[in-house]
Amino acid sequence: MLKVTKLLYFILLLVSLSVTYADERPNIIVILADDLGYNDLGFTGNTPIQTPNLDELAAGGVIFKNGYVTHPYCGPSRAGLLTGRYQARFGMENNVSYSPYDPNMGLPLSEKTFAKRLQEVGYKTAVIGKWHLGGAEHFQPNNRGFDYFYGFLDGGHHYNPDQVSLNSDGYSLPLMRNKEVVLFDEYLTTALSRDAAQFVADISSQDKDTPFMMYLSYNAPHAPLQAPAETIKKYTHLENTNRQIYAAMVDEMDQGIGMVVDALKKHNQYTNTLIFFLSDNGGLYPDSWWPQFDWADNSPYRHGKVALMEGGVKVPFIAHWPAKIPKGEKFDGLVSALDLAATSVALAGADTSDGKLEGVDLTPYMTGEKTGSPSQALFWRLEEADHIWAVRTMESKYMNQALPGVNRAFFDMTTDPTEQYNIVDSNLNEQTKLAKLWNDWNKGNMNNILYQSNEYKQARALFYKELFEKNKQEAINKKTYTVK
Ligand code: CA
Repeated sequence: MLKVTKLLYFILLLVSLSVTYADERPNIIVILADDLGYNDLGFTGNTPIQTPNLDELAAGGVIFKNGYVTHPYCGPSRAGLLTGRYQARFGMENNVSYSPYDPNMGLPLSEKTFAKRLQEVGYKTAVIGKWHLGGAEHFQPNNRGFDYFYGFLDGGHHYNPDQVSLNSDGYSLPLMRNKEVVLFDEYLTTALSRDAAQFVADISSQDKDTPFMMYLSYNAPHAPLQAPAETIKKYTHLENTNRQIYAAMVDEMDQGIGMVVDALKKHNQYTNTLIFFLSDNGGLYPDSWWPQFDWADNSPYRHGKVALMEGGVKVPFIAHWPAKIPKGEKFDGLVSALDLAATSVALAGADTSDGKLEGVDLTPYMTGEKTGSPSQALFWRLEEADHIWAVRTMESKYMNQALPGVNRAFFDMTTDPTEQYNIVDSNLNEQTKLAKLWNDWNKGNMNNILYQSNEYKQARALFYKELFEKNKQEAINKKTYTVK
């Protein structure tokens, strides 16, 4: 009898241990679109573009009605998202140029990605798609917290495999899988999606109890405008031929997201996976800067990429997590791309003791435990911070940027969320308050340390020219030897 009791006790102990050790932490997937227009998805607008997979995720989770990125274009926005810190904290306010022999051209090594924080507490981590945070080896994804990388290091890429060339610009370089160069043989967005779905399948079959974090960083629908002819045919009724191709690019991205969702379902990972979707900035829009860029639709917001108006920094932004987030939620509070890192590390139980993370854990807001705005104010500045800056609270937005019909502006975001009426000549007390918020925030920033791409390439060309001239001069000055 005693033996039976002991055996029973042992079995119970084993059961309790297995329960204790089952990892309940969610998988986390961040899907980032590139230069997507606010109105170009089914769930954000009235659009002819078909996005059934994203619409289903939005309907099954929470739509952040006031979701923002920290910068109106690619590189700095991604630096903020991945570190969970305003990129001006570490002077990264321009795009990183692809320059693999430059040991300083990348996301500063003083900064830690949230993938790294998750990796430290047992998550398997992957980035698939656009990196844009440095080409030198120590900046590459495998050295910044990602176990797995499939994609490209520069800020964009051609979509057709026959445009890959070693002798061309960064957009035509071969893809990489971890540290190896690899070829792809289908439309790029599909290749990235297929790889992301395969990552889900592989990790599920290897070790289902290990949670994973995947950053699926599409370059779609960023230029160049390229899409499969069959998909463009779905949109030939649109008048603008640029928009026909762009629509097909968004459509392909949505189909790719469908492939990832199918993989999650097939491998029983769907329920406990938290998916975020957002764009890194607003869509391009025709303006005096670039009148030819006429394919995206940021309505009802004004302006777009590179602008601090809502069209540049307010983005389609959702979260989906069947295990925790109720369906059909719409959330009005201020949500930032910085919150993705804070939320992920909180859910993973990762280390934040360096005190560097600035976002808010959105979990209690997404589950409905907390209401109100996660952030009291959001802030922006561009490199030229003396004249391009913005701050918004739930009630107001105060900004300065030389845009047609804008410059210094104040908007009542409660009554005028699309920024139609600049009332900068009134509400002076409120402007003083917002200016103080911005100035206090800006005290923690450093000046920009990165040249923009063209300036950088000119400086780099000059460096190599001078190096060569120096070598040549040294050679000329050397003693000539004779042999006997
Ligand atoms: Ca972008």
